[in-house]
Amino acid sequence: MGGTFDPIHHGHLVAASEVAARFDLDEVVFVPTGQPTFKQGQDVSPSEHRYLMTVIATASNPSFTTSRVDIDRVGLTFTVDTLRDLRAERPDVDFFFITGADAIAQILSWKDTDELWQMAHFVAVTRPGHTLSVDSLPPDVVSVLEIPALSISSSDCRARARDGQPVWYLVPDGVVQHIAKYGLYSDATVRGAL
Ligand code: ATP
Ligand code: MG
Repeated sequence: MGGTFDPIHHGHLVAASEVAARFDLDEVVFVPTGQPTFKQGQDVSPSEHRYLMTVIATASNPSFTTSRVDIDRVGLTFTVDTLRDLRAERPDVDFFFITGADAIAQILSWKDTDELWQMAHFVAVTRPGHTLSVDSLPPDVVSVLEIPALSISSSDCRARARDGQPVWYLVPDGVVQHIAKYGLYSDATVRGAL
């Protein structure tokens, strides 16, 4: 499951858990993006913080792991590169790529889509506020899964943290503490210094 994870929240975790249960997956690898392709020019937190929050959020689940492939690769993140790197690490597994309704809608604009269809099965999960449409995508490589609706977004979590509103229960407890510890999403000049 790829994402900016700025920060990771319970919507991401429920999506991963639901897909893992439905498709009987052995592992869900969370892959925080490097410089996000579709968020150029936006203020994205340093990769290392997004990676650490993802590690913290997934630590308690034995089948959830976090990968550095995207944050360690120089340049923009493209899913085809993510899947190539994961394939090199795991030559003999079947891949399922988990996306939310908003991300799957953009997929035809991703790099090397023809190759993408060969590399993984894509699972599009429902997301409140977004219409899930996969009509233009190859039906044999994209599945749709309805999941419990959690109206949570990282954008809203960032806005709440910036405004001093609680993010408790929207993100895992350790992520609340990481945000507070490093002053992420606040206007402090030392914001995010590790
Ligand atoms: P932002 O508001 O910064 O865009 P986000 O909440 O959309 O953050 P991303 O890191 O952009 O989170 O999303 C990673 C993946 O998780 C995407 O495929 C997205 O569609 C999916 N996703 C995010 N939140 C939810 C949710 N509440 N329910 C289902 N899928 C979600
Ligand atoms: Mg998003």
